[in-house]
Amino acid sequence: MAGIDTLPPLRDVIETHGIAARKSLGQNFLLDLNLTAKIARQAGDLSECDILEIGPGPGGLTRGLLAEGARKVLAIEKDERCMAALAEISEAYPGKLNVINGDALEVDPMAHLTPPIRVAANLPYNVGTELLVRWLTPKEWPPFWQSLTLMFQKEVAERITAQPGSKAYGRLGILAQWRTDARIVINLPPEAFSPPPKVSSAVVHLKALEKPRFDADAAVLSKVVAAAFNQRRKMLRSSLKGVASDMEDRLVAAGIKPTDRAEVVPLEGFCALAREVAKG
Ligand code: SAM
Repeated sequence: MAGIDTLPPLRDVIETHGIAARKSLGQNFLLDLNLTAKIARQAGDLSECDILEIGPGPGGLTRGLLAEGARKVLAIEKDERCMAALAEISEAYPGKLNVINGDALEVDPMAHLTPPIRVAANLPYNVGTELLVRWLTPKEWPPFWQSLTLMFQKEVAERITAQPGSKAYGRLGILAQWRTDARIVINLPPEAFSPPPKVSSAVVHLKALEKPRFDADAAVLSKVVAAAFNQRRKMLRSSLKGVASDMEDRLVAAGIKPTDRAEVVPLEGFCALAREVAKG
């Protein structure tokens, strides 16, 4: 008995089902169910929501989410070896857990979810950033989700919440802070995982704003910011040369000094610049 439910401890589950962690799948498992329940609580009251979980693995966070009263969990897991363990959780919570054996970058979860929807995941490091950028950059806003509660390497979590002038400030922070309230809610040492990764981790909670903080087209903003930070040591008039014609004029029109570097420009400035670039 593991405390939060009547299922076996995760160590036993992993052994029974032969789920030795694989580096290629970014597998660093959380084994402490009190910790996974604590992470689940950061997602708020789950009783009225469907939860999308990416990469449930042996099911530590999944069990946390269900024990905390999630209305329904849809879990997408690439590793076939985890299916039997996840089926046992499904049986313990009848009608509450749907598992898809597939790649989260390929599967469209919407057919299986009913709003309101929240996302919670201890993300595989190799696809985490790509998924986050996708979730942050749909053409229309608000998105399909109300909030994202996500585990990242600490360095990535710091990039998501970084402010102008800091080394961590860049594309991820701008895209996240443009459309969400983003904050780090839990810091975790490597030993919280099995096997322990080389670096510390952190859980970030991102709450979708009803509308973006400043007007801009998502694709144009994304392109401008990517180019600006791709060569972050360069002045903007040179790093953005290829993005549009008359770049110096557009920078000035957006209230940005062409000789500035990307890391000093606040979110509002990049949105103004995206609007100038979108004028064609
Ligand atoms: N949620 C579990 C936990 O907290 O212990 C496992 C977390 S582990 C860091 C990441 C999980 O994502 C692994 O189970 C891995 O197999 C899975 N995964 C990796 N790439 C994936 C992908 N493209 N789509 C879905 N799952 C993936």
